[in-house]
Amino acid sequence: MADSEKKVALVTGASRGIGRACAIELAQAGYDIAVTYAGNDEAANKTIDEIKAIGVNAKAYKFDVSKQEACAKAAEQILADFGRLDVLVNNAGITRDGLFMRMNAENWEAVINTNLNSAFYMTSPVIKTMVKQRSGCIINMSSIVGRMGNAGQANYSAAKAGLIGFTKSLAKELGSRSIRVNAIAPGFIQTDMTKGLETEKIAEHIPLKRLGTPEDIAKTVKFLAEEGTYITGQIIGVDGGLVV
Ligand code: NAP
Repeated sequence: MADSEKKVALVTGASRGIGRACAIELAQAGYDIAVTYAGNDEAANKTIDEIKAIGVNAKAYKFDVSKQEACAKAAEQILADFGRLDVLVNNAGITRDGLFMRMNAENWEAVINTNLNSAFYMTSPVIKTMVKQRSGCIINMSSIVGRMGNAGQANYSAAKAGLIGFTKSLAKELGSRSIRVNAIAPGFIQTDMTKGLETEKIAEHIPLKRLGTPEDIAKTVKFLAEEGTYITGQIIGVDGGLVV
């Protein structure tokens, strides 16, 4: 395949955890990768080195996905650097958990901006490119709690439920341009985000009796990007059977 025909994937929050695994899995499938992250230079550089060792091109972009202007600027740079975009994984996210009675506006807004508004901020500046290509695959990282809610996570559940509505609506708008839009709803996945949770106790309640790995999610991302050519508007649960 000539370099100009190479497929390109942009994964937000790819320095660590799920995003990192997605970036590596897509690199193994032959994609050049734009890795974005917030501040952890060491982790981002490690991911980039690992991707380059696979034999594809990779570049890291440090910016805050909760800021519209920063996203627009980075997206413009990424399109200029790579020349096209085939897969966008809106993955970056944070939690600021707390009971609703004590939840302040700062923690509400941080979570909505970083998990939900970021998907709008990143998708808007790249959608014209996908429309022109008449192809594209967008994957939004939702969560089981976006489907079922969770005490102590009103902000996070609202953001992740918002991503589900966003996914279904975009799928309907963009289907005629051969752009597919899906969401993944992970259960408990072993990353920095779930560090400190009582994993053994949690595993007892999961039908598959274990927490998920970032690679479990990454394999689903690759499937949606490469194999799921007639799948759009879907919320794919990757949760060991927690939500059935
Ligand atoms: P993680 O290990 O904490 O990694 C978060 C990633 O997002 C890092 O690359 C981080 O960059 C980046 N990030 C955070 N805030 C950002 C910001 N404001 N701007 C730009 N990048 C930012 O998280 P994870 O567990 O892999 O989660 C990834 C996604 O899956 C999130 O959307 C999360 O809500 C979702 N999810 C996770 C689980 C789970 O059990 N882990 C379950 C359901 C859904 P730095 O390294 O620079 O900080």
